[in-house]
Amino acid sequence: MAGNRTFTMIKPDAVGNNHTGHIIAKISEAGFRIVAMKYLRLTPERAGEFYAVHSARPFYKDLVKYMSSGPIVAAILEKDNAVEDFRKLIGATDPAKAAPGTIRNLYAKSIDANAVHGSDSDENAAIEGNFFFSLTERY
Ligand code: UDP
Ligand code: MG
Repeated sequence: MAGNRTFTMIKPDAVGNNHTGHIIAKISEAGFRIVAMKYLRLTPERAGEFYAVHSARPFYKDLVKYMSSGPIVAAILEKDNAVEDFRKLIGATDPAKAAPGTIRNLYAKSIDANAVHGSDSDENAAIEGNFFFSLTERY
């Protein structure tokens, strides 16, 4: 059975362009409840750790630099079938390929600065949520 939680980040480009409120509204309108949320800036070390799974990819260094370039919003979200439904809501990694009306279609600039993160599995949703939030920081 699919789990009911996922993890997201509103990335530095979207926060810097004042899209934070619009993106949170889209997420709420799509039926996700907020379990935990915080505004912070990642150090390059923490960004590197979060994206360690991509450390062999050619874009890794730039990704770490970008994700530590400004503040982000990190959040745990709850809804039935959360991981799959949230990936649908955000759209394809490359905003040029993201379906109309998706968050990346509306708010992302490029394949690297693509506005939001969404977990790709229940297992990673739990790992990523735990990376940012302790148990006492959730409702
Ligand atoms: N990314 C990039 N260039 C690429 C592919 C990915 O800069 O060619 C960045 C982008 O910010 C993306 C993140 O690396 O969101 C993680 O990549 P992944 O393939 O996991 O995409 P996602 O799951 O975020 O859609
Ligand atoms: Mg991914």
